[in-house]
Amino acid sequence: MDRDIHQIDLPKRVIVGSDILSKVPNHITELSLGKKILIVSGYSSTKDYANVVKDYLIDDGLECWVTHVDKASIDEIDRVSSIAREVKAEILIGVGGGKAIDVAKYTALNSGVKFISIPTTPSHDGIASPFASIKGLERPISVKASTPVLVIADVNVISKAPRRNIIAGCGDLIGKFSAVLDWRLAHRLKGEYYGEYAASLALLSAKHIVKYSEMFVARDIPIEAIRVLVEALISSGIAMAIAGSTRPASGSEHLIAHAIDVVANYPALHGEEVGIGSIVALYLHGRNWRKVRHMLSSIGAPTKARDIGIGKEQLVKALTIAHAIRPERYTILGEKGISSEAAEKIIQILELY
Ligand code: ZN
Repeated sequence: MDRDIHQIDLPKRVIVGSDILSKVPNHITELSLGKKILIVSGYSSTKDYANVVKDYLIDDGLECWVTHVDKASIDEIDRVSSIAREVKAEILIGVGGGKAIDVAKYTALNSGVKFISIPTTPSHDGIASPFASIKGLERPISVKASTPVLVIADVNVISKAPRRNIIAGCGDLIGKFSAVLDWRLAHRLKGEYYGEYAASLALLSAKHIVKYSEMFVARDIPIEAIRVLVEALISSGIAMAIAGSTRPASGSEHLIAHAIDVVANYPALHGEEVGIGSIVALYLHGRNWRKVRHMLSSIGAPTKARDIGIGKEQLVKALTIAHAIRPERYTILGEKGISSEAAEKIIQILELY
């Protein structure tokens, strides 16, 4: 492709509101997306939502099948791809949290069909982004997938997600502060493409959560807060779509989160790990890590290794290998990363254990 041409694929329609699942068939018809639909959902309560959507689609004369996944793995993607081929699906709908949405959006790209995102939990910014995290690939990082043509975020459904998942979504968004600092650094030091608009949009999503963080302190998080969170997660996803990479949304804090997954085999939710990674990343950037740590702890997000069930040695290990998770992604971790001695000191200064 011509290096001066920057292609941006965005969703055609994004709906955020209450009790909007019954309108899914209308949107599909209005946007002329197709008539044969395969829904991918998880096994938990998302299964029930998938059946609700299926009934609405069938009532409207569309053809619909449902399949369930328990992990976002290559095997599951192969299985879903072959069902999609068999039923000649024109649309794949991901109904659920990370796994169902990741499998649907990755399969959609490989199968050349349209992807619709119907999130049921707000724990990460993959709701509207064209990237998926798939287990079993060489590295635990996000890979290119389809941009959803339609995003339907029912805040009534999403508000029923466990509090922990909601708070994890806030953690994923806090990560944008250091992600954008890392992106700027890579631009200045390595001449990497930097898109100011995408960076600003990602930053806005993080600032938005800080601004409204008091709404997330309550035991029962109000529906207005869910709306703020969902809109911010969608904005972050759109920032990635505009940038054409995960750069605006993923920097050293995500490398640290991925390294924790490698060292301790996915001990916590992605957004929880990103929150802790953000404290370290902001400290390394010389920014106000105390403010972010305070905000995270005020909403009940983990701020220490033991909060996510990992030992001090595991955290030292994660900090020292984080830079090597994705060497082509230049961040404040540099090319050589954090030494063990420095990692010990960071843990002590930031009271990470
Ligand atoms: Zn993330």
